[in-house]
Amino acid sequence: MTTARKQSPVRISRLDRTLIMTAVLLSSIFPVELFSNTAPAPKGHDGQYSGKQGQVLVVKVMGEEQATEVKGTFLKRTIPFFREFRPGEPDGYIGLLGIDMQDDPGTYEFAVEVKQGEQAKQLSFNVLVGKEKFIVEHLKLPKEKVDLDEKAVTRWKAEQQLVQQALAENSRLKLWHSNFVEPVNGKRTGIFGSVRIMNGQPRNPHNGEDIGAPMGADVAATNDGIVRITVDHIFSGKGVFVDHGLGFYSMYFHLSEILVKDGDLVTAGQIIGKVGATGRATGPHLHWGVKLNGARVNPYSLLDLPFKNGSIPANSIATPIPETPSVPEPVPVKQ
Ligand SMILES: [Zn+2]
Repeated sequence: MTTARKQSPVRISRLDRTLIMTAVLLSSIFPVELFSNTAPAPKGHDGQYSGKQGQVLVVKVMGEEQATEVKGTFLKRTIPFFREFRPGEPDGYIGLLGIDMQDDPGTYEFAVEVKQGEQAKQLSFNVLVGKEKFIVEHLKLPKEKVDLDEKAVTRWKAEQQLVQQALAENSRLKLWHSNFVEPVNGKRTGIFGSVRIMNGQPRNPHNGEDIGAPMGADVAATNDGIVRITVDHIFSGKGVFVDHGLGFYSMYFHLSEILVKDGDLVTAGQIIGKVGATGRATGPHLHWGVKLNGARVNPYSLLDLPFKNGSIPANSIATPIPETPSVPEPVPVKQ
């Protein structure tokens, strides 16, 4: 039994109210600590980027030739940077920042630490995450492939764990290079991130891109890497997970045949398997997925990366913010 407790209304005097309002106003005008002598620079002081859910942003830190390590944090994900040399350009460090397909739209800080021996410097960028319009997909599948029995659920959970363990360690070396390869010649279906309704029931969004291709068509590795694990799992069917280093993984599912083994080194364009319809698939196609430091990104965003011809276009570099104590104005996200 519960008894409702009567609460006497808390009375706030007019003076108290004024004080509270003043404090709220002040804290919104000065988002940094009010009374600190060494107030840190406002968030986003070093520039800003914008992108949509599932996109990859190229973040460049220039003029840190002496740095021993550069790494960033975005929504609790760690983003390692790598050294970039380009003839005729100042040295810089580059980080690939993946926006997960389910990161909520909004503005977030991308905090970057530049280490030089014992010393560390903090940089702060603002990242505006825009909403992507994902399609809604209705799928009809055999009942047993959607409504899993207890045995299938146990199997699925064990498989998930196995993959997680295999991918827990990243190669600390950057193995990939700028020439990404589309893994199969086929029809891109554009269903990355789609909201999936299976036999009328809402399910997890689709975390990769499906490419329609005939049974047995060649599937190539998108870039150089190490085969971290090959599987034959309930949903993914025959699959290959390639570790490209620095937290970048690519995966290839529903294969009819796997042509590599765990631990194999592969190069961009190397045939690693054949298109199939194993696992939970309605017909032959390749499911191509990419994880970037834990973010599920659209694999095609790799092909769009501004690395081609050895240069990065100006618009992918953060807009420098003039030395001013004010927080930069948000920039509208490009549609
Ligand atoms: Zn798929």
